[in-house]
Amino acid sequence: MTSTPAILILGPSALACARRIQACYPQAEIHGLRSRVEDVEQPYDDFGDTLRGLYRRNVPIIALCAAGIVIRSLATVLGEKGGEPPVLAVAEDGSAVVPLLGGLGGVNRMAREIASHLQVSAAITTSGELRFGTCLLEPPAGYVLADLEQGKGFVSDLLGGETVRIEGDAPWLEQANLPVDNQAERVIHISPNRRVARADELLIHPCQVAAWIEQPGPALLDDLRQALHSAALAEQSLACLLAAPEWMANADLQSAATQLNVPLRFIDDSRQLPPLHSQHATLRLLLASAPLDANQLGRPRGRLTVIGLGPGAAEFMVPAARQALDEAQDLLGYETYINMAGPLRPDQVRHCTDNREEMQRARHAFELAASGRRVVVVSSGDPGVFAMAAAVLEALHGADEVEWQRVELQIFPGVSAALATAAKAGAPLGHDFCLISLSDNLKPWSIIETRLEHAAAADLVMAFYNPISKARPWQLGRALEILRQQRTPETLVVLGRDIGRPGETLRTLTLGELTPAMVDMRTLVIVGSSQTCRFPRAEGGDWVYTPRSYPQS
Ligand code: SAH
Repeated sequence: MTSTPAILILGPSALACARRIQACYPQAEIHGLRSRVEDVEQPYDDFGDTLRGLYRRNVPIIALCAAGIVIRSLATVLGEKGGEPPVLAVAEDGSAVVPLLGGLGGVNRMAREIASHLQVSAAITTSGELRFGTCLLEPPAGYVLADLEQGKGFVSDLLGGETVRIEGDAPWLEQANLPVDNQAERVIHISPNRRVARADELLIHPCQVAAWIEQPGPALLDDLRQALHSAALAEQSLACLLAAPEWMANADLQSAATQLNVPLRFIDDSRQLPPLHSQHATLRLLLASAPLDANQLGRPRGRLTVIGLGPGAAEFMVPAARQALDEAQDLLGYETYINMAGPLRPDQVRHCTDNREEMQRARHAFELAASGRRVVVVSSGDPGVFAMAAAVLEALHGADEVEWQRVELQIFPGVSAALATAAKAGAPLGHDFCLISLSDNLKPWSIIETRLEHAAAADLVMAFYNPISKARPWQLGRALEILRQQRTPETLVVLGRDIGRPGETLRTLTLGELTPAMVDMRTLVIVGSSQTCRFPRAEGGDWVYTPRSYPQS
């Protein structure tokens, strides 16, 4: 199954054709160069970066520009291992459709779909495909080729003039243009059974076997292989593992599914199961009459991923967080952060909430994930620093709902505001430091004062989050009074505002100069230690750092 493609255009002249192609893939979004095209779903600044980003994320690409531009832009990433998405170049007037990459990912099929919609012919260059009208090495979803290398030889033989018979049920080959001859020596054999492919045979396994796991244990993978073996079924015919929901968090079950690279689904009512093929000690093998679509069986284990976006700029988000966002079905978070989490697809559900409703949001996230959905909770910076990760764990800790405990919970780190601000300024956190939220919404102000006194006495560098707000106007001034009792007016201070976001500002000054009016909710305040120092940088401004070593007293 091919995932939703991205349609890339460079200028307004390609927009009409891009919209026509969108009719073939209603979920696909158009990415357009920001400086030249308006009214596209996904504006971008750099064509090459955008193209390579999509390629790396395995997103099928339809680029409405010269094939050469696409080839040049992707050249540096072509050697990277991993899957290869379909990549097509389409003439911006729709007169030519050229499949470039992703032969085994369905590029020719996409080229034909687009070409037929644009009423032109696709520039198919794959010889087997040209001749037979189908790629024998890429059977449709639900079928797996037993051996790719052997398959290549088989296709060459057919191109060389050999004829072929079909044994078994291959509905997609009925339309193909194969040199069929019922007396042929070469045979395309479709069967769920385990067998060693003969040299003159193309063996394709339909995924019509499911394994119902009654009792997972450490030996599950071996048991499964053994069961398939003794039932004479090919491992590649396995479509999915099935189990009762009580096993959802079972690690042996997860690991067997991962090793076998099959989906894991949970079924409440075993009457929904396909017919029994054979019974084994801890599992049952089930055999359907046609390939099984695991998505139609029961439900998956839900997943809740708590991520941090980093300070703002996309390049400072960790790739695992980006991937979680791309895979999410539901997103929860403060509206500003959900907007920062783009590009998102129209099918992804955004649950925007007020910044203060953290516990409610955490519970809502568990409810969605418990129903089998892939859910992402979005924080800025790092999710564990004055953000959603702790709220999510608080909601889970002691929760009565057994379904919540079964959810796959992941927490992915991000670049916190203190780290992002520090890096902009130099290395003010180069020695011991502490992070303090000046908000007294969730803790008494007296605790904050005590901590400030001790941190100041310990000569720690401090980073202040939530330094001031309309509802908390005086607290920062009071905090500065406490600091000034133990730090000199020359102590360096860094103010980072909207770091990594549009309009970012960075300012270096001294504790003596700092007034609360210079600071707002979007500012991160770093107060240096007695050792923090600065020197001019060539571009103007200063480098600020705290040396790694502390003088012996
Ligand atoms: N989880 C976030 C912090 C949330 S608390 C993180 O790890 O960064 C919110 C506070 O973080 C704000 O009041 C501000 O002090 C700081 N902050 C968050 N993003 C910022 C940014 N891009 N620039 C400067 N300060 C930021």
